[in-house]
Amino acid sequence: MFDETYSSDHITRGENDTNRYELGRIGEHYVVMNYPSAVTRDENRATKIATDMKSTFMSIRFILLVGVGSAAPCMTNDIRLGDVVFGLEVLPYKQGAVADSENGPYVRSGVAKQPPEELRGAITLLKTGDRSNIQLEEVTDHLSSPTDAAQRPSQDNLYLPDYPCRGEECDCGRPQLHDARLLMERNFRRHINHIMIHEGVVGSADQPMRSVTKRIELSQRDKIICFETGTAGVMDICPCLTIRGISDYADGHKIVDWKPYASLVAAICARKLLGRLQLPEVRELDLPSKPSQVARWMQGATHKAHSTASRLRRSDCKLRAAEQIVNALRERRYILADIIDLDLLKMDKDSLRKAMERDLGQNDTKVIYDRMKSLEVLQLDLIKGLDALERQLHKQTRRRPMLHHRESDDPREWKKLRDQLDVELALAGKLSERIHKCLSTTRRFLPP
Ligand SMILES: [Zn+2]
Repeated sequence: MFDETYSSDHITRGENDTNRYELGRIGEHYVVMNYPSAVTRDENRATKIATDMKSTFMSIRFILLVGVGSAAPCMTNDIRLGDVVFGLEVLPYKQGAVADSENGPYVRSGVAKQPPEELRGAITLLKTGDRSNIQLEEVTDHLSSPTDAAQRPSQDNLYLPDYPCRGEECDCGRPQLHDARLLMERNFRRHINHIMIHEGVVGSADQPMRSVTKRIELSQRDKIICFETGTAGVMDICPCLTIRGISDYADGHKIVDWKPYASLVAAICARKLLGRLQLPEVRELDLPSKPSQVARWMQGATHKAHSTASRLRRSDCKLRAAEQIVNALRERRYILADIIDLDLLKMDKDSLRKAMERDLGQNDTKVIYDRMKSLEVLQLDLIKGLDALERQLHKQTRRRPMLHHRESDDPREWKKLRDQLDVELALAGKLSERIHKCLSTTRRFLPP
């Protein structure tokens, strides 16, 4: 999947993040990847993974949710197994307990959401590029052997809408014989070795769609072309695009297993999409950060700083480990300053006065004040972590050189690191002063 991979052994995690990550580069983009376990495929699982991921990798700009989905084919949209869907709009649904029932509840549970404009632009580029469709040969390149589970299955049966699944009695349960009259007649597809890409509305629920009646009703009413689980929740956390390889028709009929192939083609399309996305466009995207994510991200690093400091005391900590945590703290100071800058823009005296004049009221000021207050606490924690490290690094630099044989034990290296840490401490101190100043400015606009 990656053009280049990096070790994830020494990442500084957000507090309580236990996800497994693979780090790499695709084209000019750095990518963090997580494979959720196949056993739990519910909405909350994806949301939890994304939340934890953001708590460790605060600078993630967007998430690609890549996996399988169920097609909603109709007269105007000939979408088939093994095709790929890009979700230009995601409609959240909730399904009741009677998932298999023809009349099971399947109701809208929130507002429609779209992926960022930059990603939609890349989809257009992918579709209108020199080759509008991806060749099947590119898929076979990714297979390890002719018996690879991700080989493209040949059987693609779409049953008539008025032939819902009859369980044990159903035609789909028979090993070989299929009554052709029960299947939809579809046009011959000429470019059989192309992966067809579709874009449109995706229905995102907490349970997979398994009812042909509901599928037709919702695809007609809401123009849905694909159903899946997970995306709606993730979109609340971070800008997100869902990319789904079609592995069934959402009708409950048994079919051969298209999931491995469908997952693979979706992943190939995700790679292709990143290839069409320019780095400056990605930099245009906001860095979305919820206060709780920022807090976990900071706390993970400050706890690691304290534990590194105590390991330094026991002298079993390598220089490299100390360098990594100093770098992690520097990154946090840097991004925290960015977040605070954004708030400061809203908080400078003039804009506050204007806000008051326009009667936007004290509530807005109060929100900013409280947010800044919580950032101040995190910033003070950061300084405490830096301080603890500094004290131990200071001791390391005073050891006698002859006692150390390895290069990493060289006191001059430790001194270099301590100097870097001193710079960090000074910059963190300045940031604190700015926060403090702005808090006292805002305080004056609030009621006593
Ligand atoms: Zn059936």
